[in-house]
Amino acid sequence: MIKNLETSHSKILIIDGDQTTIDLVANVFKPTSTLLTASNGKDGLAIARKEDPDLILLEIIIPDMDGYKVCSQLKATLETKTIPVIFLSTKNQTEDELTALGLGAIDFISKPLVPQILEARVKNQLSQKRARDMLELMSAVDALTSIPNRRRFDEYLDQEWRRATRNKYALSLLMIDIDQFKLYNDTYGHQKGDKCLRAVATEIQQHLRRPSDMVARYGGEEFSVILPDTPSDSALSLAERIWSGIGALKIEHVGSDNASNLTVSIGSATTIPNENNILSQFIEAADQNLYHSKRSGRNR
Ligand code: GH3
Ligand code: MG
Ligand code: MG
Repeated sequence: MIKNLETSHSKILIIDGDQTTIDLVANVFKPTSTLLTASNGKDGLAIARKEDPDLILLEIIIPDMDGYKVCSQLKATLETKTIPVIFLSTKNQTEDELTALGLGAIDFISKPLVPQILEARVKNQLSQKRARDMLELMSAVDALTSIPNRRRFDEYLDQEWRRATRNKYALSLLMIDIDQFKLYNDTYGHQKGDKCLRAVATEIQQHLRRPSDMVARYGGEEFSVILPDTPSDSALSLAERIWSGIGALKIEHVGSDNASNLTVSIGSATTIPNENNILSQFIEAADQNLYHSKRSGRNR
């Protein structure tokens, strides 16, 4: 999951049936973090999946299930497996600690808790988590335009393709290519070309309405929009809005055949995939339609 790292402050989940511990933890972390609490394992697992906390504090002995089991389930679930888990426990034998670390916990703190030590250890783990999140974010974002990159595009399209196959809903894809962009660079220089790519990326993004819609930089001057659960008529009307939105930016491009402004050509494809369909053929279909737009005179 990609987070906005600049605005989010740390979210900590504590899973513990003991109110005194929860109060102590709240005292330490409430001023600087968002604290989520669960008094049993079932609620804890549900909150972890829904809220994607940055760190989980987990007691071994909790009312409904054993904390080790909670940890195993967290580590076995795609959405929660990378969340660091610190055990807090009244159990303090070497074997308890070894079991916890063996299950993938990142640390083990014995009760009674010393607030300063708890705070220092949690802070260490949070700063490492933040660094990992930052790396993950950087590896998914295109440096020039700040929208998702090709790697993220491939990953997301694959995920949505499988989801559409399971749920039997329509998946649409737009391929958007800037017209005569080589000439634009030759005329105005690369710096202006880069600025233009940023403006086009921002414009496309502004037309997307649902959180599940995603635009990515597919290649040099090519963008792609993934539209889950979207039939072809909606995809085509979105394509129209993007096409006219980019025209309305009125970015001067005096050498272009079509207009004296920068334009784009768009190709789209829609399918309700089944097990016999192949994802690469779906991408190829959108690409073919893009090239059809190019061959019929661009700017469409
Ligand atoms: P068409 O209308 O057929 O799409 O022609 P085109 O010139 O847009 O297509 P072509 O594939 O020939 O050229 C793409 C150009 O995009 C060439 C390259 O210099 C430019 N380009 C690719 N990536 C970047 C970039 O990051 N910055 C800048 N400034 N230009 C880029
Ligand atoms: Mg082009
Ligand atoms: Mg191109």
